[in-house]
Amino acid sequence: MKLDVNVLRYLSKDDFRVLTAVEMGMRNHEIVPVELIDRIASLRHGGTYKVLKNLLKHKLLHHDSSKYDGFRLTYLGYDFLAIKTLVNRGVFSSVGRQIGVGKESDIFEVANEEGEIMAMKLHRLGRTSFRAVKSKRDYLKHRSSFSWLYLSRLAALKEFAFMKALQEHGFPVPNAVDCNRHCVIMSLVQGYPLVQVKELQNTNTIFEKIIGIIVRLAEHGLIHCDFNEFNIMIDDDEKITIIDFPQMVSVSHRNAEMYFDRDVECIIKFFSKRFNLSFEADAGESDSDSDAESDSIKPRFSSIKKASGFLDKELSASGFSRKEQADIEKFTLEKIPGSDDEEIEEEEEEDEGEIQNFDSLCSLTNDEDQVKACGNSGDVEEEDQQQLSEGKQ
Ligand code: ADP
Ligand code: MG
Repeated sequence: MKLDVNVLRYLSKDDFRVLTAVEMGMRNHEIVPVELIDRIASLRHGGTYKVLKNLLKHKLLHHDSSKYDGFRLTYLGYDFLAIKTLVNRGVFSSVGRQIGVGKESDIFEVANEEGEIMAMKLHRLGRTSFRAVKSKRDYLKHRSSFSWLYLSRLAALKEFAFMKALQEHGFPVPNAVDCNRHCVIMSLVQGYPLVQVKELQNTNTIFEKIIGIIVRLAEHGLIHCDFNEFNIMIDDDEKITIIDFPQMVSVSHRNAEMYFDRDVECIIKFFSKRFNLSFEADAGESDSDSDAESDSIKPRFSSIKKASGFLDKELSASGFSRKEQADIEKFTLEKIPGSDDEEIEEEEEEDEGEIQNFDSLCSLTNDEDQVKACGNSGDVEEEDQQQLSEGKQ
């Protein structure tokens, strides 16, 4: 593995304290004033300033002095905090190659001490869609980095909660291993996204299986909402795995039927185009409501016996509030329709120091004083806060 995250253990305690202090300050400051960072980190002898400079150099922080002297986390800084916590928990110990670039995520291989390879998904909400649909979105009136971090954290938490629940209900999804901040660790799926597949041995069976999953999800009270050839993985034995869950909604959502039909249409369209699968009726056109045109392959939302409450139950079990649920839904659902084709406004942020610069972490410090391992449960930010107050110098 190219990148050895063991080095994270040797990051100085002070680096970690200051980075965590910035994260805490971002709960109520878009740009955290230096004085506040210094107060939260409470390092001796003005040590905060030196550390801030170092963190800035390595792009873990962004400096802003337009209104006052302050800092905010970059995605790399946020990556660092999440990775560090997960490494401390023993979830994995090294980071390898990047295996996927989603619309709003980066996916890397990671490995634990036993050499087991898993997938790490770092959510990056706001990387594209914030700019793409900027004019329509009301949060952008108060657009802030905190919102990006906040939404990315919610996306990860929701994805993790669903993956776990879906797995428990026998759906073919990756095994949900752990989650921290905007980062989800899951089992590595063998195979490739269906979009890369040129031919199938058992086209009809695979098609039926996939449609069957959409129906079964609805029977469990859920709609995937981004069910397409990019989010269906298939291996050499034509075994299917479904991925990418942050945008899922309940069947009681006011637009549930539209989302359900859209998922179905997506699959029908892809199979007819890519594999020339022909359907009795013209399934390619979705805008006919006529019963006369209904065809056997197209499941009807209205005739599915749906369970209710599943989503609410699973999400509240994972600590999701209604407000958080509404926040993430608002964001992820708005971005989906046609978002692949959406023209991205070129309003490039200055280099956010994404994980490609991860190598820079290796040289960040040589302080061997290891940061105390975080516990395994509860709100991580709470864990961090506790650490800070316990370790007050
Ligand atoms: P996004 O939400 O950004 O679309 P996805 O979860 O769909 O992110 O992942 C993007 C890509 O990363 C996928 O198309 C797939 O190629 C790869 N990927 C994601 N999760 C896994 C996994 N568990 N195992 C292997 N590859 C994965
Ligand atoms: Mg995807």
